[in-house]
Amino acid sequence: MQLLRGTKDILPDEIFLWQHIEKTASQIMKLANYHEIRTPIIESTSLFKRSIGNGTDIVNKEMYNFIDQGSREITLRPEGTASIARAFINNKLYTHTTTNRLWYLGPMFRYERPQQGRQRQFHQLGLECIGSLNPMADAEVIRIAHKLLNELECSNYNMEINSIGQLEERHKYKQSFVEYLERYVNDLDNNSKNKLYTNPLKILDSKDTKTQEIIYDAPCLHDYLNIKSKKHFDKVCEYLEFLNIQYNINKQLVRGLDYYNYTAFEIKTKLLGTQDTICGGGRYDSLIQELGGPNIPAVGWAIGMERLLLTIKNQLNEKIHNKKPIVYLAVNGQNTEKEIFNIIQLLEQKDISYHLDLDTNSLQKQLKKANKQKAKACLIIRDYEIKNNCVTVKKLSTSEQEQFSMINIHDLIKTLKTIN
Ligand code: ATP
Ligand code: MG
Repeated sequence: MQLLRGTKDILPDEIFLWQHIEKTASQIMKLANYHEIRTPIIESTSLFKRSIGNGTDIVNKEMYNFIDQGSREITLRPEGTASIARAFINNKLYTHTTTNRLWYLGPMFRYERPQQGRQRQFHQLGLECIGSLNPMADAEVIRIAHKLLNELECSNYNMEINSIGQLEERHKYKQSFVEYLERYVNDLDNNSKNKLYTNPLKILDSKDTKTQEIIYDAPCLHDYLNIKSKKHFDKVCEYLEFLNIQYNINKQLVRGLDYYNYTAFEIKTKLLGTQDTICGGGRYDSLIQELGGPNIPAVGWAIGMERLLLTIKNQLNEKIHNKKPIVYLAVNGQNTEKEIFNIIQLLEQKDISYHLDLDTNSLQKQLKKANKQKAKACLIIRDYEIKNNCVTVKKLSTSEQEQFSMINIHDLIKTLKTIN
């Protein structure tokens, strides 16, 4: 049986890196009063069509859709925000407090061509600050992303930020932009040509040089922004400067989802190839209302865990070692079982991790395995130890061997705890 294309097993030798990121994130979130939320992996297909938008790549090409046995149209979630907005409305979270700060971590699914930094099942760590129009909320979420990346010692990244204004401003802009592009339609790359009437803003994002040359002289979205949009953007930039957070204004940055307005941003790393965006986010003031909820604004982001890991794996590996059991229990003899369970209970009480050898090999072989496992000590229990109510401890770094009485376990525990 083969693993599905674009999916990955996360094995024990990597999981401790994931746990480290999760622990770091949850500490930072807790300090800023963000609460974890876990929503289902499956949702109604219509949720994503209505929120992410019909003209987007995600909805058109990337969703994992299926019909369940009750003939319902269901989708494996491609991102987190739509589900959170749905949960926010369904559970009327707005009745408890005016600002809801939520964070999440979980698998997302997109049918894309698998490559470095792009999987079909991947994970996002994200947050949403729901309930405020204040540009300080934008600065708060961006600040937390930076704090997390810095704490994880992710360096070499850049933040790009833009304002994509409000729906009406974008609507006017789209008309002029499309009119302009129509003059050059034959010179556009195929992908952009296809988007001309469905999702023209995404053409700004095109990597094609010819298309980029055409865009160079095209009308600029910023010139279509009204005072309110501009003020919001200026405030966000002012806060970022105050916070000493580096950013570049990228006037061509539009995000792949329909629901954004005002602030849009992406954090890119220089350490990855083409798939260089590790975090994407922005403001989505009308999404909750669009989905049938009250008119409540929000801003948030999502970090791609796999891409983040690619950039910090090496440093993290050196910094946090995968802790191996420190005591290897080598057993040899007829009536040792009961004593072993007593010792295991004792080690647990004293918070000492252990590895019990379950093979009936010679003591020599067990010692070899203990070395291979990089255990610090081997606790040997044979008929001799049972008869004398003691255990033998062999320090694996020096091969020194010492016996400890089980009557007073103080010395044994002290030795095991201090062995290195
Ligand atoms: P891209 O331009 O790389 O396709 P996107 O704009 O589709 O990214 P978002 O929807 O903003 O991505 O998701 C936020 C983050 O999730 C991305 O910046 C990226 O780190 C990660 N991500 C998105 N799609 C994938 C994928 N297929 N595999 C791994 N990570 C992904
Ligand atoms: Mg994408």
